[in-house]
Amino acid sequence: MDLGIRGQVALVTAGSRGLGRAVALELAREGARVALASRNRENAEGSAAEIAAATGSEVVGWRCDVSQGEEVREWVDRAAEHFHGVDLLVCNAGGPPGGILDTLDDDAWQKAFETNLLSVVRLVRATLPHMKSGGRILTIASSSVKQPIPGLILSNTMRAGVAGLMKTLSEELGPRGILVNTLCPGRIATDRLKELDRQKAERERRPEAVIQKESLREIPLGRYGEPAEFARTAVFLLSQANTYVTGTSLMVDGGMVKAL
Ligand code: NAD
Repeated sequence: MDLGIRGQVALVTAGSRGLGRAVALELAREGARVALASRNRENAEGSAAEIAAATGSEVVGWRCDVSQGEEVREWVDRAAEHFHGVDLLVCNAGGPPGGILDTLDDDAWQKAFETNLLSVVRLVRATLPHMKSGGRILTIASSSVKQPIPGLILSNTMRAGVAGLMKTLSEELGPRGILVNTLCPGRIATDRLKELDRQKAERERRPEAVIQKESLREIPLGRYGEPAEFARTAVFLLSQANTYVTGTSLMVDGGMVKAL
């Protein structure tokens, strides 16, 4: 299948680690020219250089904190100017901290809103003037879009907002030939997942291995996903081979979510 990605320009935020990095790498493998962002300049530059060396594609890494509106606008404009346009946008950020209603104050809610929901609005708004018909927009959310996760009230709330935003944008941007989707990781083996397992083990004073075993029981495929498996699904949705999937929230979860 020809994915039609060779030579296209892709923007990937939070792209120096975890799922963002995996998506940037797979896009570069397919021949995309990639701009990736990280809050830390050295990490952005380092990851970009590694991906460029591994794939032979042009990859630039610049600092951008997606919770800061001005930084988002400047980063997108800089990338669009450097590559003369944008074809693909991947909106990603770190997940908000765990917690329940009683443990989170207004500041925590505001920060989660700016990092995980308003960032998507700002990224799309900044990118659209540079994106032509045929463009693709993908946001990395969570399986909590379909099945909220106990103890992650901030994530559960913001991800639902993202899914609503993306569905609405698929309506608004469909007539312009731009496809818009949400990709929802279940449990993909990144640093974040390992850290969440570690924290749970500490909180419940039980061995990490036991926490993991319980967690795997909920996944029909019986294992955590690999970042590369997640990234390959992202690449299909972003590709020109995807001509009719838009407005979807797609689970990449080994069958974990029980909703139909
Ligand atoms: P990760 O923690 O491994 O990587 C997240 C990256 O985002 C880090 O590089 C971090 O520095 C960066 N980041 C954080 N805040 C940022 C900001 N304001 N601006 C720019 N970059 C920022 O996480 P991951 O596992 O790769 O997950 C990516 C996203 O998917 C997160 O939002 C996470 O909550 C969500 N998610 C992941 C899983 C999973 O199984 N891995 C499951 C559900 C949801």
